[in-house]
Parts: sequence; structure tokens; C-alpha cells
Amino acid sequence: VKTLRQCITDAVQKKVAIGHFNFSNLEMLRGIFGAAYAEKQPVVVGLSEGERDFLGVSQAAAIVRSLREQYDFPIFLNADHTYSLERVREVTDAGYDSVVVDGSALPFAENISLTKAAVLYARKVRPEMLVEGELGFIGKSSKVLDELPPGFSPGEEFQTGPEEAARFVKETGVDFLAPSVGSIHGVFSDGANNFVCRLNIPRIRQLKSAVQTPLVLHGGSGQKDEEFRAAVQNGISIVHFSTDLRIAYRKALIHSLEENPDEIAPYKYLKPAVAAIQAAVSDKIRLLAGN
Ligand SMILES: [Zn+2]
Repeated sequence: VKTLRQCITDAVQKKVAIGHFNFSNLEMLRGIFGAAYAEKQPVVVGLSEGERDFLGVSQAAAIVRSLREQYDFPIFLNADHTYSLERVREVTDAGYDSVVVDGSALPFAENISLTKAAVLYARKVRPEMLVEGELGFIGKSSKVLDELPPGFSPGEEFQTGPEEAARFVKETGVDFLAPSVGSIHGVFSDGANNFVCRLNIPRIRQLKSAVQTPLVLHGGSGQKDEEFRAAVQNGISIVHFSTDLRIAYRKALIHSLEENPDEIAPYKYLKPAVAAIQAAVSDKIRLLAGN
């Protein structure tokens, strides 16, 4: 089975992107894996600090490794948004395939020192683990929003510039970079992501030529399909989705409970929620693979 690094190199060459999907429990993971397996596309599954605490930091790594080995399939576990060196060490030691070091709310120099320290630790302990850096703030929470996240502004002047991106990558030694190019975490309750937070495609192109590392797009939920195609064509190699999946899961679960008021077997009433995740993930994977 290919490594994550090989899968990303392939994606860059083919000008497609790999989907990154967050999960909170085993049902969501089964839905995501089912979709990737059916579509025969490599997939990254992600856990925020809160998600991995809920599942068990090491236990989650064991489950994903078990799927990869039993099915001989390229599924990888990413420690999404990790805010401290202690927590970077924890997931490195636990065997995660990659980590997102998020110093994007810190001043530039502090972001560099946190990210660089994380890269040094990962290289020393598990050289095969990949490290992603974040430059430019895009909000923190994968939820339904009524207003812009505090500290975020949709203007181009607040997005990541090519020169600072090149300096950040050079000084930290990260394997991937997630810039701020218009998207945010979370989706607007009125569906306004595409008006307020449109992707800045020319900026993606500039960043792609300024840095040598693959680019990652966070805040994929709530964006239009054409926007993704353009972003991937212009240099995005991984796209993160979380909020859309959370919404699909909750809707399907509520519906299932309402339809089956006397059912008490979780493996029965949770089935529609797994199916909803699988359908949502299949759509995203096909889109990113250029189909
Ligand atoms: Zn994110």
C-alpha cells in the first residue's frame, strides 16, 4: 500500500486532490472508509483535538491502521488543528500519519517557532510522518455560523501572501502549507459561504508558484463544485471537509430516530447516519478526483 507522501505526489502530478474528512466516532469513520473504498481513491481521515479526545488518541490510530492493513487500502490518519507542542508529541508517539500544527492565530514569528519545533520533533521520532503548517487565520469551529468568525475578515488583504508563505515554508520545513485563500471553517446558516467567502483562485496560483510544498484547503464545506475544480486545477492538493458531514450525520440520525421510535439497537438506528456520511463523502471524492 502506498504511503501518504506517495499519494500526495501522485495527486500533485495528476492535478487532482485528496479528500480529508473529519470524524467523531466509529460510524462516521465507517461511512468515510466505505466511500473511499468504493471510489478506489486514497483518503485522509482527520481528528481535531476534541474529536481525538472523544475517541481515544491511540485507539483511533489503531483502528485506522487496522483498516489500512486489512484492506490493503491507502487510508491515513491526520491529527487536525493541533495547537501545542505537547499535543504534537502525543500524536507523533501514537503513530498518526500526519499532523496539522496550527499557529495561525499567533504572531508570524511565534507561528514559525511552534511549527518548526513540531517539524523537528516529528523528524527525529518518526521521519515518515508529515507535518502541515497553517498561515492565515480562517476561524476555528466547524459549525453552523450566523456571522463571520471573530478575528476573520473576508478581504484579500487578510489572506496569505506569496512572500510570507515562501518564508514560512523555508524556515519551518513543513511538508504542506494551508494558506488563507477565502474559505472559512463552518458554514453559514443561510448558505452564504459562496458570496462572503469565495475562493481566491489567482492567489492560490501565486502561492503555488511561490512555495514548493503541496497546498491544503481548509473550510471546504459550503463551497460550490466549480470553485473546487478551479482550486484543484490551480494547485490545491488536499481539501478538508467537516461541517457538511456533521450536518448530514445529525439530519440522518434525527430522521432515523423519528421514523423508528421503538428501535433501541444502535447498530440498526445508526445505519442511515453511516449511509448519509458515505453518500456525502462519495460526492466530494468524485469531485476532487475530477469526475
Ligand atoms: Zn481546518
